Amino acid sequence: MRSPIGPYLASIVDEIRPEDSGELADYIPELADADPEPFGIALSMLDGQVYTAGDAERPFTIQSSAKAFTYALAIRERGLTKVLAHVGVEPSGDAFNAISVDERGRPANPMINAGAIGTFALVPGDTVEEKFDAVQRFLSDCAGHDLDIDEGAYTSELSTAYRNRGIANMLRASGGLAAEPDIAVEGYIRQGALRVCAKDLALMGATLASGGVQPVTGKRVLDDETAGHVLSVMTTCGMYDAAGDWVSSVGIPAKSGVGGGIVGASPGRLGIATFSPRLDVHGNSVRGVAAFERLSRDLSLHLMRIP
Ligand code: GLN
Repeated sequence: MRSPIGPYLASIVDEIRPEDSGELADYIPELADADPEPFGIALSMLDGQVYTAGDAERPFTIQSSAKAFTYALAIRERGLTKVLAHVGVEPSGDAFNAISVDERGRPANPMINAGAIGTFALVPGDTVEEKFDAVQRFLSDCAGHDLDIDEGAYTSELSTAYRNRGIANMLRASGGLAAEPDIAVEGYIRQGALRVCAKDLALMGATLASGGVQPVTGKRVLDDETAGHVLSVMTTCGMYDAAGDWVSSVGIPAKSGVGGGIVGASPGRLGIATFSPRLDVHGNSVRGVAAFERLSRDLSLHLMRIP
């Protein structure tokens, strides 16, 4: 029997596609030139069955959606206590690129740039290459196949990374950064230039939703507890200064990226991803937010509502 899920997702794409508000991320030269039109949705069940609609196989750079996974890797490799000593778990209520440092010299949380730069610094390895290799391998394990880099996006962002370099230097000055600032920033920007499509992101979300097992390969990449911790921080901090709105209207742990992707994970149920490059003022995909609202309502995925 043909599943009704594909046509259902296609109907959401058709309904939301006319929404053309929002802007491309123009502070990264290569993203400013992206095609604003593609729109795709993917759902991954925990048995690895994936349903898609629209431009779900169109590649884009993962950007900040990588932050959740690098955070998971840092906890796996260094332990939660060590990671918490360097990066907090408080929603900041500030923009993703806020210069964030608490009274202990830590960034507020790992989902904003400051915290993600601090998290990358904690990944084992002495050089950018060693640390980045570990990140690339881990994100590829979550996707179920090798992810490659958009070198153009990487060099383009690196050439204008004044603010992220400023954040890294400030964290180093306050004693909270576990690597040299250049290593942390270059690796952090490189992880954001990893190329994914909505289908990859849905599978990555499903890996977190399942408690750490990649649904297609069956490989356990995280323990349950770490996956649950990452989902908690995604819930409170994943959508930056729109996190409160997101929790009340969508209620699914999620992480956006300025490339236009959003990855979501409904614990014990499924992974969800959307891709559409136009962003709202918080840097979250406009159509992506609308699609998640629909899916949450239609599929009763809101964490705080009794289905
Ligand atoms: N690489 C981007 C940056 O550091 C990621 C930001 C994002 O996706 N919100 O600015």
